Amino acid sequence: MDVVLIVVFALFGTAVGSFLNVCIDRLPAGKSLVYPPSHCDACQRRLSLKDLIPIFSYLWLRRRCRYCQAPIPQRVFWVEAGSGLLFAFLYWYCGLSIELAVTAFYCCLFVVLGVIDLEHKLILNKITYPAVAVALIILAIDSFLPEPGLFSNLIFLPEPRILSGVIGGAIGFVLLLIIALVSRGGMGWGDVKMAGLIGLVTGFPLVFVALFMGVILGGLVAGILLLLKIKKRKEPIPFGSFLSLGAITTLLWGSDILNWYLGLF
Ligand SMILES: [Zn+2]
Repeated sequence: MDVVLIVVFALFGTAVGSFLNVCIDRLPAGKSLVYPPSHCDACQRRLSLKDLIPIFSYLWLRRRCRYCQAPIPQRVFWVEAGSGLLFAFLYWYCGLSIELAVTAFYCCLFVVLGVIDLEHKLILNKITYPAVAVALIILAIDSFLPEPGLFSNLIFLPEPRILSGVIGGAIGFVLLLIIALVSRGGMGWGDVKMAGLIGLVTGFPLVFVALFMGVILGGLVAGILLLLKIKKRKEPIPFGSFLSLGAITTLLWGSDILNWYLGLF
């Protein structure tokens, strides 16, 4: 394993993270991703190339706009640094492969969905719907490839893999639909559709691992926040953020987690 390539992937990851920040900033506001070019939201000044260097510009500028001193949200730093670490890890984990590209794509997708839900309590259809289409295309391509296909970590996907993906999607959708109906407002339509997407991506039976982790984690955190009176009962919980965590964890270690769990019995 080449250390230089790990560093290259880390740097590439911070640049991707910088683009994910643009998606997180602009998609909920209904703005275009490409126009206008990067600018400060407070003073509208266009950012120069040196303002756009991921992580470093944030640190150099001491978390403020160079021109108007408006604070830059901490999230910008965390998404860039997190994406850098994630890409370095993914290269180390998957090696140079199609699996690396597909896993990285899905991880980025769930980072954007998760952070937007955390900040706006929103899961955007304009992300979920195209993502479902892309997931179906990836599944279709995967069905033509020999074992283990695109995801060596998702080898639990029984054959034919496209069917297992579609069944996973249906299970995710129906399961969270039931939870949404029972909890009456604890979970929204956005979460239900996102669970369908997660099922498509992880397939049957790993969809259970992903959703179980998301729902348990979300429920735990919500319970603790309620107990400590940090949140009121009626305040919405960003379940999509927890579902994202569950999905990313499952993409990386889903088979291991399921094997470990089944080994308990
Ligand atoms: Zn500014």
